[in-house]
Amino acid sequence: MNRIAKLDHAHVWHPFTQMRDWLKREPVVISSGKGAVLWDVHGNEYLDANSSIWTNLHGHQHPKINTAITRQLKKISHSSALGFANEPASLLAEKLVEVSNPKLVGRASSRAGHGSSAALPHLNKVFFSDDGSTALEVALKLAYEFTRRTRGRKIKPRFLSLEGAYHGDTIGAVSLGHIDLFHKAYGGLLFKTDKVMSPYCYRCPFNKAKPERADAREYRKCNWECVSLVEKRFSTQKKRGNPYAGFVFEPLIQGAAGMIPQPSDWLKRVTDIARAHGALLIADEVMTGFGRTGGARLPTSRLARTLAPPSTSLFASHHESVQPDFLCVAKGLTGGYLPMAATLTTQNVFDAFLGEYHEFKSFFHGHSFTGNQLGASAALASLEILQSKQSVVARNKLEQTLRDELNSLWSLPNVGDVRQVGLIAGIELVKDWRTRKPFALRDRAGIRVCEAMARHGVLTRPIGNVIVLMPPYCTTTAQARRMVSVLREAVSEVFE
Ligand SMILES: *Cc1c(COP(=O)(O)O)cnc(C)c1O
Repeated sequence: MNRIAKLDHAHVWHPFTQMRDWLKREPVVISSGKGAVLWDVHGNEYLDANSSIWTNLHGHQHPKINTAITRQLKKISHSSALGFANEPASLLAEKLVEVSNPKLVGRASSRAGHGSSAALPHLNKVFFSDDGSTALEVALKLAYEFTRRTRGRKIKPRFLSLEGAYHGDTIGAVSLGHIDLFHKAYGGLLFKTDKVMSPYCYRCPFNKAKPERADAREYRKCNWECVSLVEKRFSTQKKRGNPYAGFVFEPLIQGAAGMIPQPSDWLKRVTDIARAHGALLIADEVMTGFGRTGGARLPTSRLARTLAPPSTSLFASHHESVQPDFLCVAKGLTGGYLPMAATLTTQNVFDAFLGEYHEFKSFFHGHSFTGNQLGASAALASLEILQSKQSVVARNKLEQTLRDELNSLWSLPNVGDVRQVGLIAGIELVKDWRTRKPFALRDRAGIRVCEAMARHGVLTRPIGNVIVLMPPYCTTTAQARRMVSVLREAVSEVFE
């Protein structure tokens, strides 16, 4: 076994990994990468089909990001945000404010039956932290304290999030999460939050449609029962005298839940309800931010198409004309280079923390590496690339290529649902597409398919029985085709 692999086996404990299985075989030791390609210590070549767990945007060793970091290295790598400002963090905050407040196409809230569309929140304050989990912790603490300062100190603010929600692994973020497999064991450590049904059209008990060879959102037959349930939750909580302080959601597609996409217009409907009940909107765009959800979405009807014109925003919420009060970003913020996160919020929230020094109204929260210069420099370069015409064209093309290629998977009887949102695809494996019968966990269907894909040079990680394809934006047409064809071969190989 390779020397590094031996050291890893001896000492490294991997995240979300059954280490007994891990220790049974030599791990792939990544030694370098360029574009969408990764190499291991034996010189084997792989395609990075999940952008190194959803972080990488423009490919590895991007010349512009490399240059930005190198240039910053020659000045300083890090100084504290506790007591000092710095150039890259200030420039980045300005840029983030610019891209997170696009002109949204005004869509009246009347469909949800609640009054007028009030002025959209303007996000103009940026709190930096280290990763997706901390970005959520910050939003949560701010929303909690803001609510107590505005509604009264006796209030115990309560939060609502979605079934299958994943917002990170720190205790606050876990409290907002609703994936039993990850979260149940730590129940004793958590505070109570409520959950409400999220739209999982493929397995929705309200969807009366028989399985078809198409994305379940396209042929669903329902009456938006999931939206009615959200309305009901909010009303019930209001009757209890403590309306929800915040509604937390992953916009357009829930990631760790299994790449579960929302039908067009769902987000707009439920956030209108949340707003009408006075809840703050907390958008977790840790996975979806920075262009991941592309430009075009799957319209469910002609009405939806006219209601939701394609948005060019980098954020998923904006594609549904939703502007949250808190926008949490991380993963792709630095182009996937360095751990850095940001929580954006409004002047209104910021002002609630102003006061005399001795009043201690400050936000008592911070991390050692808050506002890190190297991370901020990488993020600035990444945003510049994202806004270049070349990147926009490449992203649209890649989105279309994926759409075309993924179509070929419908011929496989073990593929139940193929769902794509921009540059994210989830392929749900089933025993038989006609019945939607799932594989048992112990069948390890997703793991076996991904292991077969790795043997053919394509790396990704399953979520249960869902295979994820989330290529870096620099992925060429040939590489995208290869990702999908290897997936197809792997499925045939494993289930033959
Ligand atoms: C990955 C992820 C997180 C957590 O981010 P970390 O950087 O792993 O802490 C939170 N929310 C969503 C939607 C994510 O995909």
